[in-house]
Amino acid sequence: MRVAFASEPAYPDRPNEDFIGATADAVVLLDGASIPPGFTSACSHSVRWYSHTLGSTLLAEMTQSAGPLPELLAQGIKHVTSLHDFTCDLTHGGSPSATVIMLRQIADRLDWLALGDSTLILDTGAPEPMVICDDRLEQVAAPHRTRLDSLPGRTPQHAEARREYVETLGAYRNRDGGFWVASTDPLAADQALTGTIPTNQVHAAAVLTDGAADAVSRYRLIAWRQLLDVMTQDGPSALIRRVREAEHSDPHGERWPRSKTHDDATAVNVMVHG
Ligand SMILES: [Zn+2]
Repeated sequence: MRVAFASEPAYPDRPNEDFIGATADAVVLLDGASIPPGFTSACSHSVRWYSHTLGSTLLAEMTQSAGPLPELLAQGIKHVTSLHDFTCDLTHGGSPSATVIMLRQIADRLDWLALGDSTLILDTGAPEPMVICDDRLEQVAAPHRTRLDSLPGRTPQHAEARREYVETLGAYRNRDGGFWVASTDPLAADQALTGTIPTNQVHAAAVLTDGAADAVSRYRLIAWRQLLDVMTQDGPSALIRRVREAEHSDPHGERWPRSKTHDDATAVNVMVHG
């Protein structure tokens, strides 16, 4: 595989909580769930620490083992938990979490795994590419977002509503009937979407955190097919630039109500050699 990527924090002076790592036959993308100001947690570790530690662990595992991806993810979650369960109280659900996408080429097949709301796109040559996104968070979140969406962005009322919203969603995290992400429970790996496809059926793939997928899924600037074209012709940073332009044109979320004005955005373009 040939991999090109770009990753930008929501604001230049804040840490990027997305993680992207790749080798010639593996890609790992994580989106750390940001914790709004005013939240206290019994875990002293940052979201960035979590996404980068789990992400690099998964990439290392993928280079050493051909085992099933959910198994590697479960091992990775267990490993990272063991790095702080003796210093932090991880039993109260306040510990950092992240979405995960893993993509691996082994011989003549591609294996993939998706947990949480990052997006994997497989271009099989059909007019419409395959779009894989675990939408359980969206299903759970939509009914709780009415108040947040009605308030103008960048106001104290909006910030307060966002804190409430995140707190409400916390009750649905890693529960049956809720949504699943990587955090401290290795069983979350069993909830991931997974698949395998022959390499010769895939021309290219793209992997996006929601901050970059918003170009299609929220702002509707382009369709998925065009997104793949932008990635191939102009590169992943061109896609993120278009997302930021859209966000700057709507700083208070009037046209596109959203919980954050900007989000960390990562876009990965993968050329697959069949
Ligand atoms: Zn911790």
